[in-house]
Amino acid sequence: MKKHNFYAGPSILSQYTIKNTADAVLNFADMGLSILEISHRSKQFQAVIDEATALVKELLEVPAGYSVLWLGGGASMQFCMIPYNFLRTKASFIDTGTWAHNAIKEAKLFGEVDVVASSEAEHYTFIPKGFAEKVTADNDYFYYTSNNTIYGTEIRKDPDVPCRLISDMSSDIFSRPVDVAKYDAIFAGAQKNLAPAGVTIVIVRDDALGHVDRPIPTMLDYRTHVKKGSMFNTPPVLPIYSALQTLKYYKELGGIKELERRDLEKAALLYDAIDSSRMFVGTVTDPAGRSIMNVCFVMKPEYKELEPAFIEFATERGMVGIKGHRSVGGFRASLYNALPIESVRALVDCMNEFQKLH
Ligand SMILES: *Cc1c(COP(=O)(O)O)cnc(C)c1O
Repeated sequence: MKKHNFYAGPSILSQYTIKNTADAVLNFADMGLSILEISHRSKQFQAVIDEATALVKELLEVPAGYSVLWLGGGASMQFCMIPYNFLRTKASFIDTGTWAHNAIKEAKLFGEVDVVASSEAEHYTFIPKGFAEKVTADNDYFYYTSNNTIYGTEIRKDPDVPCRLISDMSSDIFSRPVDVAKYDAIFAGAQKNLAPAGVTIVIVRDDALGHVDRPIPTMLDYRTHVKKGSMFNTPPVLPIYSALQTLKYYKELGGIKELERRDLEKAALLYDAIDSSRMFVGTVTDPAGRSIMNVCFVMKPEYKELEPAFIEFATERGMVGIKGHRSVGGFRASLYNALPIESVRALVDCMNEFQKLH
């Protein structure tokens, strides 16, 4: 049976990415060797990381003066690397969910933290309005999570703030054009919209580095990786190879604008089905803050006990990964770039069929 992969992360990758990665596992770049067993210093792998870096810059229109890094440690490692490298006295945050919360906790180890807005008391069901206006110029930076993977909210407009701007774009990078020039650092774990787990992309403004007084351990200092082109130590070779395949695929499709068009279309299809349903209801209270990547919904109170039955019903029809995160409950359908609209249609059909039966 055809599977429809709605996992939140690691998550669906394009068939192009999976096929080319599988081929390289058997024979990489006609070397007669597997990508799993070659030196990261080989000229063949150097070509891979160079091309992947160039494609990130091309697709996101990264201006001159920025470096693109390929680092290990997951997006969570960035929660400490960012303050290590950027926080001198004070930074501002918006608390919009678990990942923002975790980043705030780490930043507190390095300096003063000002949470300008939070939706924590309302279970992160919306994006607080007017948060950017509350950010003051005396901050070393303002930090936000662009897409809240667990709660299904998203900030799709680059905020204007009077200090440096930093964002965790792990779960919506490459789903909208980003004005990179507004940012001093952007990072994204690969396992949502790019590659298998194991690599994190960091886009950092070169001249924003080197302004903190504290000593920084070599591996946690962005300058180490800028200087060595992400080859100070062994980078995650296989995930970088897969990332290159996805980036080529994105370019072939027509780039970020086309990806965004598709993502908006997919999200509208599912949100319309939820909004017009007598059984299902979205968990995000303000439509303006709804994520186009992770759609969270539950059953209305009068149908609540049918939730496990729906999971079973959907699973029998090939839906995978639609169970909501344990902190939200209900359902979450992740509609990352690689998910075809046919899968969203299949889910909507499934919802409609189930409603008819009950
Ligand atoms: C998944 C995710 C993370 C955590 O990524 P790891 O690679 O597991 O550390 C951080 N931020 C966001 C927005 C995420 O979706």
